[in-house]
Amino acid sequence: MKKKEFKSESKRLLDLMINSIYTNKDIFLRELISNASDALDKLYYRSLTDKNIKIKKEDLEINLSFDKDNRTITISDSGCGMTEEELEKNLGTIAKSGSLSFKENMTKEDKVDIIGQFGVGFYSAFMVSDGIEVISKSVDEEVAHRWFSTGVEGYTIEKCEKEDIGTTISLHIKADTEEDNYSEYLDEYKLKSLIKKYSDYISYPIKMEVTHHELVDEKENKYEDIKEVETINSMIPLWKKNKKDVKEEEYENFYIDRFSDYDKPLKVISHQVEGMCTYKSLLFIPSHAPYDYYNKDYEKGLSLYTSGVLIMDKCSELLPDYFSFVKGIVDTEDLSLNISREILQKSHSLNLIAKNIESKIRKELETMLKEDREKYNEFFKTFGVQLKYGIYNNFGADKEKLQDLILFYSSKKERLITLKEYVDNMKEKQEKIYYAAGSSVAKVDMLPQVEQVKEKDFDILYLTDYVDEFAITAIQEYEGKKFTNVENGDLDLETKEEKDKTNKLNEKSSDLLKAMQEEIKEVAEVKFTNKLKSHPVCLTSKGDVSIEMQKVFDAMPNEMGIKAQMILEINENHPIAEKIQTLYKENQDEFMKYTKILYSEAKMIAGLPIDNPTEISNLICEVIAK
Ligand code: ADP
Repeated sequence: MKKKEFKSESKRLLDLMINSIYTNKDIFLRELISNASDALDKLYYRSLTDKNIKIKKEDLEINLSFDKDNRTITISDSGCGMTEEELEKNLGTIAKSGSLSFKENMTKEDKVDIIGQFGVGFYSAFMVSDGIEVISKSVDEEVAHRWFSTGVEGYTIEKCEKEDIGTTISLHIKADTEEDNYSEYLDEYKLKSLIKKYSDYISYPIKMEVTHHELVDEKENKYEDIKEVETINSMIPLWKKNKKDVKEEEYENFYIDRFSDYDKPLKVISHQVEGMCTYKSLLFIPSHAPYDYYNKDYEKGLSLYTSGVLIMDKCSELLPDYFSFVKGIVDTEDLSLNISREILQKSHSLNLIAKNIESKIRKELETMLKEDREKYNEFFKTFGVQLKYGIYNNFGADKEKLQDLILFYSSKKERLITLKEYVDNMKEKQEKIYYAAGSSVAKVDMLPQVEQVKEKDFDILYLTDYVDEFAITAIQEYEGKKFTNVENGDLDLETKEEKDKTNKLNEKSSDLLKAMQEEIKEVAEVKFTNKLKSHPVCLTSKGDVSIEMQKVFDAMPNEMGIKAQMILEINENHPIAEKIQTLYKENQDEFMKYTKILYSEAKMIAGLPIDNPTEISNLICEVIAK
């Protein structure tokens, strides 16, 4: 017999389980049943391609029994079983938890959350048991093995006898405590109702011996307990049921179980199609990003069933990248059961289904946007970035599909609005859609260039996500209106007189401006402006790359050296304008110092790093100390 310790992280999770911090203990049964169902799926799928595996679909089942006196619950399945190695690998570590790390001072709620995020799985059985025995015979091994554990101390594995392929799990139920009544699980009615509640849709029969109190002699009014093995679950997969026959709670429980979430989904989409392609699907939009969503090995995809048999767990072809957060199931009869992955990927039917699903998800989101804005905002907060990526990916190929689903903060409305709402509320003769970019609404609001546009009573979209400007650039124009960055050079908002005045000043000062530009070579141009109401300076850009975009490029690991063409603009109506004109004539040395300070101020406002902060701070002090 081999004695082993659990891997350290598994140990900690186990410890939490044993001390039952997860309040919903009921779920242990659905976890074990869903493992059994997976094992049956695997065996059945193998049998389709492997002639040596001879099984009948009718023989695939899950059996449940309990023994009140010995305090045991036994769940057995005729699935694929586990080899010795698999027993160790699967039950000795938490499979999904590569990076699971419990911080020391976490609250109980945090821990519950973390456990939820990783799916509680097999270990949840330790919430209600003080000993677990797993006897398993794999389809790939002649001998059977017995795995046994009483908890954190570790587990043992030894060879044992088992005739049929499959797994039998026996739980020894904990003794009752003041707080917890574990004995409730040793009860026929309780177990039956748990199966009905959480595992009704499982497509294999879950059988259990039940007792009927039956009238056997009418005259004598004599009753007897008759025992009978019954299938407890309806076995109709949830996605095959009519929407109106399913309670929202059933969908939610199914989602939580199937996709190991701790929270119910934001939206359930049950969708059945007949025609060009025929399929039934059950899709979910999670209420928060999956824990591994931003890892690069996050796999998008929907579970693909053919005629009720799972053929692929994550079929990525069924979802575009911009909907990669969607979870769910697609069941179709249009594909053959033993289709290879390569053929499947090129299959016309699969393509059709994917197209249908994409458009269904989109329509559902459009409806949510129209009818339940609050919910949509919640959705957008979590997954909006993904949609915006979708707009500029593939060279903007999908922008038309997505542009009405994105939201930006509006300076006038002071909340998120759609592009359509912006355009519908444009001022008469307004030709452009104005936007400004920065790292937060508050920061954008304080940009010098924003003031002038706001003063003219135009609405401005604030782009605060780093992908925003790329998305806007991909869209180019909406309903014939071009997007214009208010931070970009010329907005053409001044009157002719104002323009003439500024032009004259710039012409007259060309030597001065050139001297400034030569001192600060990073900028392509220096000029006077009258668009800055109360602010002395600002940085703008000309050309395709804005300052915000440059920041994104700068942050990329393989810096591409893509730079914005910057313009330093100085407010002609600010006292500083006169000051530098005087200095230029009277004190060149001082003039250069002012140039450096002004440029650094403008960079600071634009959120760009200052290369030589000590030098600049010394310069400022020198000037103000005078
Ligand atoms: P999950 O099911 O989420 O992967 P679990 O901790 O519940 O995590 O189970 C770990 C693994 O153990 C499963 O992925 C599966 O490979 C294996 N396993 C669990 N129960 C069974 C079973 N009844 N039959 C065969 N394999 C099983």
